[in-house]
Amino acid sequence: MDITFKKAETLKEHPEDSTLGFGTVFTDYMFNMDYNPEEGWHNPRIEPYGPMAMDPSSMVLHYGQAIFEGLKAYKTDSGDIQLFRPEDNLKRLNGSGQMLCMPELDESFVLDALKQLLKIEKDWVPSAAGTSLYIRPAIIATDPYIGLRSSNTYRLFIILSPVGAYYPEGFDPVKIWVTTDHVRAVRGGVGQAKTAGNYAASLYATKLANEEGYTQVMWLDGVELKYVEEVGSMNIFFVIGDELITPELNRSILSGVTRDSVIKLAKSWNVKVVERKISIDEIYEAHATGQLKEIFGSGTAAIISPVGQIKYNGKEITIGNGAVGPLAARLFKDMMDIQYGKVKDSFNWITAI
Ligand SMILES: *Cc1c(COP(=O)(O)O)cnc(C)c1O
Repeated sequence: MDITFKKAETLKEHPEDSTLGFGTVFTDYMFNMDYNPEEGWHNPRIEPYGPMAMDPSSMVLHYGQAIFEGLKAYKTDSGDIQLFRPEDNLKRLNGSGQMLCMPELDESFVLDALKQLLKIEKDWVPSAAGTSLYIRPAIIATDPYIGLRSSNTYRLFIILSPVGAYYPEGFDPVKIWVTTDHVRAVRGGVGQAKTAGNYAASLYATKLANEEGYTQVMWLDGVELKYVEEVGSMNIFFVIGDELITPELNRSILSGVTRDSVIKLAKSWNVKVVERKISIDEIYEAHATGQLKEIFGSGTAAIISPVGQIKYNGKEITIGNGAVGPLAARLFKDMMDIQYGKVKDSFNWITAI
């Protein structure tokens, strides 16, 4: 399939790197491709970024049959553009699509399309330290129909957004609220899919946490409200004694590319990494005996997000001395160094554009 290109009449002005936040500025072009049962995925095209005409009865608007991904393009010191493990994001997109009854994508075709888009938009990749170009692929159900079934037609789109450094004022630990009234995902649900509804469902508990002065929610499992699953929309890690522990993937936890990278990096440093169920009670006990050293989240946006305090059942504890722990700091630096091409990519994680 050939990708067609429609030139924009005018190009946007690029914001200064120092003014960039997250997810508010979009580049000149986007990639679009459509699906119907007769033609399969067809009409791949790069065209000017802009509003999409959609029927108000489009199924995605009513039943949330929508999936997405999030990855980044980084600029190296020599000005080259590179991606971090993009194949894993596209594989996960197909995994999410399967759970949402969507047609499979040709992952290598979409990766090529993304590379073409990035070649056109390479000047949009910011170069100040910690900045990057966030990439948001999404698939939505487009049948104009308000009965409940899965759609027959879909739109895949990829949009790009230059984003600022996640920690412009330094790598500061956040305060986390452990909710016992709300769950993010349930056994047999769609927690492992990056699907719109999971994020809509997380908003209310997050609002309550924010009102209490906490940045994010720590989610417990949806069956016993006992085992830790994730924090916000990040995976979570604990350093207890000399082990790095993260909840095992149980189908309600999202399988993060950053999570997997943290595990592989830590193992390469001979850190003992354990994937298992871990209860919130065990974390409080480890704190009481002085064994709980660090807690941090992992995800594409922040890479590593150290946790300073958590509050559960009215009891707040401070992790370590409330400062960034040594393992979180080392992981953050090494991941950045790989993503920005400052060190050798011994894991084969980098794709050049
Ligand atoms: C995207 C996401 C993550 C992190 O995944 P990465 O691939 O590391 O960015 C973790 N949890 C949830 C719920 C997510 O949506």
